[in-house]
Amino acid sequence: MSKKKPSLKSKGLRYKLLLAYFLFSVIPALFVAYLLGSGFIQTQHLLISPYKFIGLLIGIGALMLMSISAVLLLYRSISSLEDVTKRTVRFVKEISQGSISFDSTEDETEKLNTCFIEMIKEIHHKVNEANKYAVALGETNKRLSQMAVKDGLTQLYNHIYIKERLNNEIKRAEQFNQSLSILMIDIDNFKRYNDDCGHLAGDYCLGQISLLIQQNIRLIDIPARYGGEEFLVILPGTNSTEALQIAENIRKAIANYQFSATREGTIGAEKTTSLTVSIGVASYFKDSGIKTENELILAADTSLLTQAKKRGKNQVALYV
Ligand code: GH3
Ligand code: MG
Ligand code: MG
Repeated sequence: MSKKKPSLKSKGLRYKLLLAYFLFSVIPALFVAYLLGSGFIQTQHLLISPYKFIGLLIGIGALMLMSISAVLLLYRSISSLEDVTKRTVRFVKEISQGSISFDSTEDETEKLNTCFIEMIKEIHHKVNEANKYAVALGETNKRLSQMAVKDGLTQLYNHIYIKERLNNEIKRAEQFNQSLSILMIDIDNFKRYNDDCGHLAGDYCLGQISLLIQQNIRLIDIPARYGGEEFLVILPGTNSTEALQIAENIRKAIANYQFSATREGTIGAEKTTSLTVSIGVASYFKDSGIKTENELILAADTSLLTQAKKRGKNQVALYV
């Protein structure tokens, strides 16, 4: 069964009060004025004929009837005010989970006033709560949308995002007749590092290397974790010579960095070791013959594996 909605609708209280006032004061006053004006009552002597006496009794009876009706009307008006108060109290108790209390001396209007104050407090409370939820929801949405494009371990862009972005960047370069380069970076002998120091230390190194990459690229460049220990960096508006320079800076920065060589990662690490990376560089330019992001990635991968790795690692190679 559906619950009845609480309502504050009153039942014409104002009109009932006006009518009661009219019956109580205006009509009796008119009646007395009429009696005096018509000479019905003579103030000099109070002797009146039996007919007039009966008429007077009827008049008084009518007056008494009107007074009783007025009292009844007032009583009903007050009852409906009490009714409004009760419904308001019930309403406020429902919205504020029963946390309303009255002073025992409070009458209906004071109770109504208390109710409205409680309602306003409750509205403020609900608005504050709603605002808090809205802020928390906004933060969660932001985190979720970041999780959709970012890699959890390194906070770089993830595989899906970088491929989509590369596709768009190639289209843009084509439209504005610009060059574009990418770097495919692979850590050398990382399996051995994991075997010696453990995967947790390996994870820590991935974080360190992603920071070193970010420190050696420009704000316009877009770094991503492409796979396990492979990173892809998009260099918009960059030709192969500039890309080779950026790649070389990254390679040197990583080769010069001291990584922890203990199983606990950096915590209390005494032994350190070097890690190196090999980097394959490929560029898109007008007439390069490259049309898609997969073709450009394949080109960078080819220079990484068939040149940089094959020739001894810790080096940069350009796809030609
Ligand atoms: P190469 O110089 O030829 O690249 O040798 P490599 O050992 O780096 O390459 P290989 O493909 O043989 O192994 C890659 C290793 O990277 C295997 C795996 O243990 C490690 N690896 C991949 N993803 C993660 C990761 O998320 N965390 C850690 N700790 N290691 C990872
Ligand atoms: Mg690899
Ligand atoms: Mg490797």
